[in-house]
Amino acid sequence: MTEHIKLFIPGPIEVRDSILQAQTTPMIGHRGKPFEQLFASVQRKLRLVFYTSKRVLVSTSSGTGLWEGAARNCVSDDPQRGVLAGVCGAFSERWADVCARNGKHVTTVTVDAGKAIKPDMIRDAIKARNEPFDAIAIVHNETSTGIMNPLADIVAVVKELSPETLILVDAVSSLAGVKVDFDGLGLDVVLTSSQKCFGLPPGLAFAAVSDRVLERARTIKNRGYYFDFIELDKFLQKNNTPATPAISLLYALDRQLDDMLAEGLDARFSRHARLAGLTRQWAASQGFALFPEPGYESATVTCVSNTRGIEVSALNKYLATRHLHISDGYGALKGKTFRIAHMADLTEADMQELFSAMNDFLH
Ligand SMILES: *Cc1c(COP(=O)(O)O)cnc(C)c1O
Repeated sequence: MTEHIKLFIPGPIEVRDSILQAQTTPMIGHRGKPFEQLFASVQRKLRLVFYTSKRVLVSTSSGTGLWEGAARNCVSDDPQRGVLAGVCGAFSERWADVCARNGKHVTTVTVDAGKAIKPDMIRDAIKARNEPFDAIAIVHNETSTGIMNPLADIVAVVKELSPETLILVDAVSSLAGVKVDFDGLGLDVVLTSSQKCFGLPPGLAFAAVSDRVLERARTIKNRGYYFDFIELDKFLQKNNTPATPAISLLYALDRQLDDMLAEGLDARFSRHARLAGLTRQWAASQGFALFPEPGYESATVTCVSNTRGIEVSALNKYLATRHLHISDGYGALKGKTFRIAHMADLTEADMQELFSAMNDFLH
């Protein structure tokens, strides 16, 4: 086996050995008592991490599957209503596209890459319409540009102007690294994937879902089966899943949730903020600018503008010799930016190891 290369990319992120090991627990059937106990244990702890007393659906898929689920369960086929999507980079653009591919009418509010969606833009989009939108789709943390959108302020505008509009949040690269208060903010769907701030291997996705969503879903035809929230909720109530879940990943999740709660959620969020601060400082100290507009920088992934014109692929080639790996810019931002993830279980020592290796390359 070649030596392991530590991942500082925004998914899949580095996974600790003890979490990888938890996946080797002997297999059980998913229709027996031991599985029910495992699933109940996971559910109780997931609700703490999502700050909800409602329910957290668990899907054997990546987060993209729940994008489809959110569109199919929350948005009717009525073109007068449809979904309002904030677009500020590659992931938010793709979610809007996924809504359209599921036959939903999509209205977009678009900003340039590196900019955040502002509450007033949402205010204008809602006011420009006679009928309320069925739903609004917001990506909390746009991983392609390192932008964190002002979620609470956007939510306040929707609640004020269009209370019946369901609020759907992609928190794929923020949840468990940043507090996303589902019940406190009155959100309707908050979805995330296992391979980002949860620090697990890819393959599971989670969505907190409000009662309003299930009521809405009952009125909507053609929700499909695999991502039908009503079906998932029905089985969840019996601590089970409609189809065979990724049981090995659930063992890893159970273990990781224990570790997360032992660290303390507030401490976990502070650690993410601290590592983000260190990464921004490192960038400035080496003469790089940050790509996001000031005030909206992500706490989980830093998108650095390549203002020094370095060859990002050469940097990563060098980092590989030090058993480290960062991310190039996403799509059109390749070479113009590079991204450093500081999420999940990464520590200050991990970041210092990375900074010192990058400094050796730069000098
Ligand atoms: C990674 C990511 C996705 C896609 O999630 P998958 O688990 O790869 O399907 C969606 N949205 C954001 C913001 C992401 O960072």
